[in-house]
Amino acid sequence: MELHFRSPTEALLQKQGLTLAHLDLKVWSSEAVGPVLLPVRWHLTAPEAGFWTLRFDLIPPDRALEINRLRLEVFLPEALWGQEGPLWSLQGAAVHWGQDFAFPLEKGFARENYLGHLQDAEGGGVPLVYLWNRRHGLALMHLETTPIEWYMPVERDETGVRMAFELRRPFRLAPSSVWTSPLFALSWHERRDFFAPLERYREWLAQRGLRPAPPVRASYDPAWCSWGYEFDVRPSDVLDVLPIARAMGIRWFTLDDRWFDAYGDWNPRPDTFPNGAEDLRRINEAIHAAGGLSQLWWYPLCAEDGHGAWESHTYGLSQILREHPDWVVLDERGRVARNNRHLAMLCPALPEVQEYTLALVRRFIEEWGFDGFKLDNIYTMPACYNPAHRHAAPEESLRAFGELYRRIFELTRQLRPQEGVVQICPCGTPITFHLLPATDQTVTADPTSSAQVRQRIKFYKALTGRRAAVFADHVELSDGGVDFASGIATGGVPGTKFTWQVPPERQARLK
Ligand SMILES: [Zn+2]
Repeated sequence: MELHFRSPTEALLQKQGLTLAHLDLKVWSSEAVGPVLLPVRWHLTAPEAGFWTLRFDLIPPDRALEINRLRLEVFLPEALWGQEGPLWSLQGAAVHWGQDFAFPLEKGFARENYLGHLQDAEGGGVPLVYLWNRRHGLALMHLETTPIEWYMPVERDETGVRMAFELRRPFRLAPSSVWTSPLFALSWHERRDFFAPLERYREWLAQRGLRPAPPVRASYDPAWCSWGYEFDVRPSDVLDVLPIARAMGIRWFTLDDRWFDAYGDWNPRPDTFPNGAEDLRRINEAIHAAGGLSQLWWYPLCAEDGHGAWESHTYGLSQILREHPDWVVLDERGRVARNNRHLAMLCPALPEVQEYTLALVRRFIEEWGFDGFKLDNIYTMPACYNPAHRHAAPEESLRAFGELYRRIFELTRQLRPQEGVVQICPCGTPITFHLLPATDQTVTADPTSSAQVRQRIKFYKALTGRRAAVFADHVELSDGGVDFASGIATGGVPGTKFTWQVPPERQARLK
């Protein structure tokens, strides 16, 4: 049955006698129980004009009760919101590669917006939805500093728009304990686009102790990246480009994807780097001698377990999982958790995984000579149900995920105080918010157009601060492949992946 609660915030959303939005709580239980038997206690504060925080307690009846689903819903009636020109939305969930972060919301639109990890895909993001027209806007968000595995559905039909937080994992209310919700918030804005609510969200997270990492001078320097050579990049490619790019004022040189043998082991690939680590040291020495800085592409917390493939690379069994098969994250059903490249995910809550990951940071910087990182395909982490890990709660892996990335950043800065730039790229989606203390350079992350370059730079300036370093990504991804203006004029850090004097037969293989 469905239980229905009207919240006390209703009155706060009234303006000139009109109710601009309705806020409701709905709880589903497979057991027959009336509303009186399940009281709700609301905790509502209005810390500043146009901003309300909201939490609620479910107080169980005198016996245990199974809850199947729970939904906190904000309804915006069409009669008040659909009459002022186009209705726009910003939806921060990382649902699929290439998504627009902000877009006009048409009737018939419906999206689930799961905020947790999506098996074999993306997931995570920023737990904020903002609806606005030319007169006013309303944002719904949560202010927890660790991700929660809830949905954030948005639907528009003839009657209006519904935006909600929804928990779909069943849970049991014990007779003598109170169930407390996450901390939610509503934010009201007059004649403002998505910049204003995101900026306010950043300020609230900062008050709760979660702040973006501070940039250094090098965070703003232009970058060249070897991705133009794709999966068969060789040391000579980087060394050939070096003098040309330096003459253009480019300071960063990124050795991109596929320099390594196996995900998880991270040794130089023998067919393209035949001298192993010596090849990497030689590249870095040349870059530093030319006055440049070097960045290494890396995908922490995953390893090959003999399952799947990515592009031309078929996965074997990595040495690290051969030695430690129990390091993997298992989901609720006991399946190995897999990221967007179908790699097994390693549990960041295990001290051995943390030590291994931080030892890699030391190897890349201290032994090989890199200055910083491009951490790529970084979305989120599922709750871990691997019994071998003996977690006090499955969500320990989620908390540890943000924490370990913060330690990667801090160790990088400790080893390279002036140059230790860590870029985190959530390819094609918004970043998962609790990674913000772990990156001093966010990125537009595979924009599909110049419009996405501009929109995403604005998004990250709101989320991480007006002086934040936002990498505009490779100019080749912009309209026409040469639109530096969209990246630079919006305050972004320019980048390119141009190739130099590539023989025609090799060029034909590159996109
Ligand atoms: Zn675990």
